[in-house]
Amino acid sequence: LYEALVNDPAKRPERTGTTFERVCEVIQNVLPENEGKAIVSQLETRLGSVASRKALSEEDAHKLIDELDRFEIGTTDMREIVNQLLLCELSTDEVLELHRTYKIPVSELETDILPVQGDGCWIMDSKGKWYLDLDSNYSATNLGMANPSIAQGLYNQAKTLISMKEDRIQLARARFLKEIEQMMPQGLVNFYWQNSGGEAVDKSLKIAKAYTNSRDVIAFKNGFHGRTHGAVAVTYNEKYRRPFLLHEEEWVHFADFNDIDSVKNALDKTGSRIIIMEMVQGEEAGNRPATQEFIDQLWSLARERDVVIIDDEVQAGFGRTALKKGEWFACDSYGVVPDIMVIGKSFGGGYPVTAVVTKEQIKNSMKPGYDGSTFGGNPMAMTAALIATRQMREMDITQNVVDRSKQFADGLAELQKKYDIVKEVRVYGLMIAIHLDNHENVERVQHRFRDRGIKSSLSTGEYIRFLPPTIISAGEVNYVLSALDGAIDSL
Ligand code: PLP
Repeated sequence: LYEALVNDPAKRPERTGTTFERVCEVIQNVLPENEGKAIVSQLETRLGSVASRKALSEEDAHKLIDELDRFEIGTTDMREIVNQLLLCELSTDEVLELHRTYKIPVSELETDILPVQGDGCWIMDSKGKWYLDLDSNYSATNLGMANPSIAQGLYNQAKTLISMKEDRIQLARARFLKEIEQMMPQGLVNFYWQNSGGEAVDKSLKIAKAYTNSRDVIAFKNGFHGRTHGAVAVTYNEKYRRPFLLHEEEWVHFADFNDIDSVKNALDKTGSRIIIMEMVQGEEAGNRPATQEFIDQLWSLARERDVVIIDDEVQAGFGRTALKKGEWFACDSYGVVPDIMVIGKSFGGGYPVTAVVTKEQIKNSMKPGYDGSTFGGNPMAMTAALIATRQMREMDITQNVVDRSKQFADGLAELQKKYDIVKEVRVYGLMIAIHLDNHENVERVQHRFRDRGIKSSLSTGEYIRFLPPTIISAGEVNYVLSALDGAIDSL
């Protein structure tokens, strides 16, 4: 308990000081309601001098331990109190307030729970409650919310060499390069490492422009490519572009998805030689796959007109959309290889690492000095990526996606038969969208999920979307399906 109250920075340098408020919160989390309340009220009376929201001093900690001794809290409860304090030393309210005070409000803060620990597909909040995660941090934590092997690798790497600029050779990257080629589509073997999906999309546009010497880019309606300046410019939803005066960019043209004539028209009108696309539109379209016919037509059109296709697999890649074992990318499922591919999210196992990948004949359009990155492909990122991708292969992740996808599809089809408000179900690998009758019901289901120990916060209009970790088990899928049944029933 003392260790949880007074931090030893040599042992846990990542922590700050434990506050009295957090101690009171944890006591109430762990003990039955009346008992917890009574103890906290006595502690507040007797230790009123302990400064609010300041780290407990050694003296405060000793006083607190003496006081707690008087209440004869059982060993199991006391262990849980210590465990929760070691996981989180600040009260939930303080954490929330700090975020509210200091955040530039570019996005809506999700404040319903404060996640403090992960275990496989599960996250525990600051109150000690566990939730099955259906978001995977936008498909980034597909191997779970905490990963001991990645943790060990990052610890070893940070101790030996924490960072290295992109343009210097290093061992961690060489190790990863020896492994990654076996997962890549044929011929996509030249990498430019970045740190976020948006950044990698920007760089893919630069490479395509350098190669084609074409200014104009064809993107698709309802496509999403990120929030950096270039990536948002080719993202369809105008509300993401307009505030930054990127809604009238002369070099960007949006074509209809799954409509080859619309693409032809755009190419004819603009003379562009660059197309950027998601093969399975996620974020903005509520999971809409391209048709095989459209992809075949697009590829032959591109060959005919010498057009470069950028395939954004930031969300889809590394097994998320697998329809068959071994399909690591959406383009594998369609049987095509793009000229440039953008990868991200999943392959760092939760650690930020992304890349633009291209072919021999395109790579040479980039010359030294055309770009640069301080952190791109740094040794920590490469180490995480090596361990994460190795795990994906060893765990046969694509087979798990295929099996769990079928389970979701079957279970959701049953729910669609049972409930009128379920209008449509879209399951593509483990990209899942359920069309309900209105957005309010989407929010209600998400709310009721929370009561049933499930965390799901993704939606697109009337679609509730799931991007569960690709390691999700059969039992966990059943848990989601039965919670969803209960949640819809209770509407
Ligand atoms: N591209 C696609 C298809 C995405 O889904 C996203 C994020 O959701 C991005 C790019 C942007 O990635 P990041 O948030 O890492 O910048």
